[in-house]
Amino acid sequence: MTSRRNNLAPTLFLLVTLLVPLTLYPFTVVIDAGHGGAEKGAVQADLIEKDLCLHFARKLSTLLEKRSGIKVLMTRDDDITLSIEDRAKKIAAVKADLFLSIHFNIDVFMLAETRGIEIYYPADDFSKPPENAFSLYHRNNRSFAAGKLLRDRYLKSDIFTVWKHDLNMFTPRDLKLFRLTATPGLLLELAYLTAPEDRARIENEQFLDDLARFLAATIAEYAAKK
Ligand SMILES: [Zn+2]
Repeated sequence: MTSRRNNLAPTLFLLVTLLVPLTLYPFTVVIDAGHGGAEKGAVQADLIEKDLCLHFARKLSTLLEKRSGIKVLMTRDDDITLSIEDRAKKIAAVKADLFLSIHFNIDVFMLAETRGIEIYYPADDFSKPPENAFSLYHRNNRSFAAGKLLRDRYLKSDIFTVWKHDLNMFTPRDLKLFRLTATPGLLLELAYLTAPEDRARIENEQFLDDLARFLAATIAEYAAKK
């Protein structure tokens, strides 16, 4: 018995060595529900962006938490006012691998035909000191890779093909939240409150569930590749 147990020891050691890093270092995702508290965001009739963001962020977090190897945190889980600086600090504090900032849009000209989802990734940022340039380059690359995977999967997803929810934009943008964090991240404008077709979809819980499920699956796919 003793010798048999000894023979198993190297195998067990190898297993532990292989498995421990997986559990010690999960892929950490921060879900940032846009606006909140005193800051309502976009308002269109009875739809208030800050509430929609939180509602959707909770759905997405719940689904992502069920995925193995993924740890999820939210910048807010209540109707509180949070500055962009506060959000950036929270993202940096947990050393996140990726953050997703959740928003809903309005067309400033109130055009009903402006609709669909928008995926923004960080633009090159030359306002940072040169010593940050290397890490920003990687940050931008990773953000782009995550956004591109989302875009590619989106065009084949039920959200696009069955629900007919347009992909309005996949583009870089110089946003304050991107400028304040060195973490890879995306900002998603999920739908236009000014487009009647988008409004009908976001008032349908089934659509929001399907969209959250699509995002959770794609983020898990991205996390597994990392
Ligand atoms: Zn917003």
